[in-house]
Amino acid sequence: RKGNVIITGASSGLGLATAKALGESGEWHIIMACRDFLKAERMARAVGIPKENYTVMHLDLASLESVRQFADTFRRSGRPLDVLVCNAAVYFPTAKVPTFTAEGFEMSVGTNHLGHFLLSRLLLEDLKKSDFDSKRVIIVGSITGNTNTLAGNIPPKANLGDLRGFAGGLNGVNISPMIDGGEFDGAKAYKDSKVCNMLTMQEFHRRYHEETGITFASLYPGCIATTGLFREHIPLFKLLFPPFQKYITKGFVSEDEAGKRLAQVVSNPSLAKSGVYWSWNNNSASFENQLSEEASDPEKAKKVWEISEKLVELA
Ligand code: NDP
Repeated sequence: RKGNVIITGASSGLGLATAKALGESGEWHIIMACRDFLKAERMARAVGIPKENYTVMHLDLASLESVRQFADTFRRSGRPLDVLVCNAAVYFPTAKVPTFTAEGFEMSVGTNHLGHFLLSRLLLEDLKKSDFDSKRVIIVGSITGNTNTLAGNIPPKANLGDLRGFAGGLNGVNISPMIDGGEFDGAKAYKDSKVCNMLTMQEFHRRYHEETGITFASLYPGCIATTGLFREHIPLFKLLFPPFQKYITKGFVSEDEAGKRLAQVVSNPSLAKSGVYWSWNNNSASFENQLSEEASDPEKAKKVWEISEKLVELA
């Protein structure tokens, strides 16, 4: 049978390119989990994914209620779940003030981390039931959360500190909308959310890989400087960023190429190892990359997991 893969944020950028790559192979049915139903349908047609190879389902990661509803609706569809790709993200680099999710969490960490944390925890049960031979949960990471790289050292750097803002509920009322309890900074909130994504992948691996056989992996697909992720940035940045990445850092990848990379992590037998953070070299060959000290700290991963459980009301 075809594999069934849920991809969050499949209506643009990397998610759409991945859906396209998998849809073309004919070996996958893609559940496009998107906040804008009509846009997802339109984009699926625009890139030519054959109709029988995809289903659009509504999911708004900025609402935990919507996440729970999505998991219920998916379950009722009777489709097995073989692979889950947590790809959607928001980024507010120029925001002066924080915005908040339905439950009142700072928007970047609330959407990118907490929404996906609840989603993957709920869907773990469905993955366990599938008889697919290579079940996977893939959480898209980023170089920007990794302070052991050049890109990760451009300020403001990711830093979760002692997690005091996170433990306080990240709502700007009790303490601060930032994980480390500091002043609001939109670019840093995004990087912090990506560190949480990478820590979550590893904690999943430690807690569930042996018992379930599920592969938990993360990746940095390269800098896809043309996606909507940068939609909130100033015009000059949007103009200069793609050529800067192409000619100066040479980290630029096209959406097509990045989609093929994520599709490999979904389906390629040679990328089935669990607990790995994948990257690609300049010849487009994959390799197991090192995470920064913070993004690979098991104590921090455990704490982030436990606080997240409380915030999404799983514990
Ligand atoms: P895009 O902005 O193009 O895609 C993000 C997707 O997330 C969109 O489809 C968007 O939906 C969706 N989304 C946003 N908020 C929500 C929500 N509340 N509920 C459901 N879906 C939502 O950016 P990219 O493709 O670049 O980003 C994809 C992933 O790649 C992210 O995890 C990002 O961190 C990561 N990444 C990107 C890099 C880059 O250089 N671009 C580099 C490294 C990692 P809609 O279509 O409706 O806007």
